Amino acid sequence: MSTNKKIKFSNKRTWSHDLPISFLMQQGVENPGVLSLAAGLVDQKSLPAGLTKQAFDHLFADPRTAKEALQYGTTAGSLALRTLLLKHLSRLEQKSAEALGITVDNMIVTTGSQQYLSLLGEVLLDPGDICLVAAPTYFVFLGVLQGLGARIVSVETDEFGMRMDSLEATLAMLDSQGQLSRVKMIYLVSDYENPSGVSLALDRRKQVVEIARSWSREQRIFVLEDLAYRELCYDGPVVPSIRSFDTTGETVILTQTFSKSFSPGLRVGFGVAPDEVCAAIRDKKGNDDFGSTNFSQHILATALRENLYYDHVEYLRTVYREKRDCMLQAADLHFSNIPNVHWVHPRGGLYVWMTLPDGIETGFNSPLFQKAIHEDKVMYVPGELCYAVDTGRGEKEQPSIQKNHMRLTFGVQNLAGIQEGMQRLANAVKSFV
Ligand code: PMP
Repeated sequence: MSTNKKIKFSNKRTWSHDLPISFLMQQGVENPGVLSLAAGLVDQKSLPAGLTKQAFDHLFADPRTAKEALQYGTTAGSLALRTLLLKHLSRLEQKSAEALGITVDNMIVTTGSQQYLSLLGEVLLDPGDICLVAAPTYFVFLGVLQGLGARIVSVETDEFGMRMDSLEATLAMLDSQGQLSRVKMIYLVSDYENPSGVSLALDRRKQVVEIARSWSREQRIFVLEDLAYRELCYDGPVVPSIRSFDTTGETVILTQTFSKSFSPGLRVGFGVAPDEVCAAIRDKKGNDDFGSTNFSQHILATALRENLYYDHVEYLRTVYREKRDCMLQAADLHFSNIPNVHWVHPRGGLYVWMTLPDGIETGFNSPLFQKAIHEDKVMYVPGELCYAVDTGRGEKEQPSIQKNHMRLTFGVQNLAGIQEGMQRLANAVKSFV
């Protein structure tokens, strides 16, 4: 066999050689009996098997639609689905598509929103270009940015999401370093952020559009709005997006997914972007796959058209509200007597972000992670994965990457699993306090 010069193969498996997401999944497989509060999977029991079968039966009752679904689709995605997505968006925003300034031509259906994020990174970012992100943020997207050789600069957050004063200060700092022209986008998970569970306050949604505009020079700064969790709201209605404050539609690019609100197995997400960005993504996608799975798109379109989808989302909210409350009650029960442990009460989404006392590290190689997985048989996502390393700064000037957080999810375990997992985790943490 000839040696491959580009890829160095190794038989040794350490996390630094793997993407964190692959490492975590592998840990679950290699350690039977471990209760995962880490896996970002959705609730297995409430997956819409019956509804999907109903949609399938409906679609296949007519051989013409059945055969359409089995044919290749188009790169941008099924027009019927995009038309329904437009309606779906205006229903969520409580604004007409005209008022939002969105047409089906601004929309591309992708293989989950992950593909949209990745395609967008590829078309907008050259190596060394800058993306501003919240600290902490969605770690898989950090991996995408790193893979593209982008410089990732973190912006401070509080309980209302990314701080706008810190965003301004960061842009001013980059400007003073002559780096403003390299800033291409600000990435934000607006609702119930993965990992922190925090949502961006409404006034900040408006401000971020103004800030992106006011700092754009010859180079436009886009806001990339990731709305993965927006429909999983448990304490109130769906919140207007950042995109809804972008009156010209030139600044904000949004992406949304049906993975959390319906089924990740269908792998259907979509994005909305200004014309020229949309065209670039379509070209790139055309070279990659000439369109996401047509079959899944037809199933989803049927579920939306027949209202099966909307009933399901209502049901999911009750399921996850109960699971969220169960995790918070278990946190009260098992962690409130451990000094200096805090956690966020999320109003939606799938995550509880827990902060341990200073000095208790949670990373893959930490004694806590090792004890948790091997002795207490419980797993979490180390918070440090969700903080970016800024490759534009030296080791000593790094903004602090916090090492004492854990991302816990109530998505995949049932109520008993959540209670048991939290008890095991508290047991692991107590050994280090
Ligand atoms: N954005 C965020 C914030 C996520 O948490 C995820 C998945 N965990 C995605 C995007 C991508 O999801 P999908 O590709 O399944 O749509």
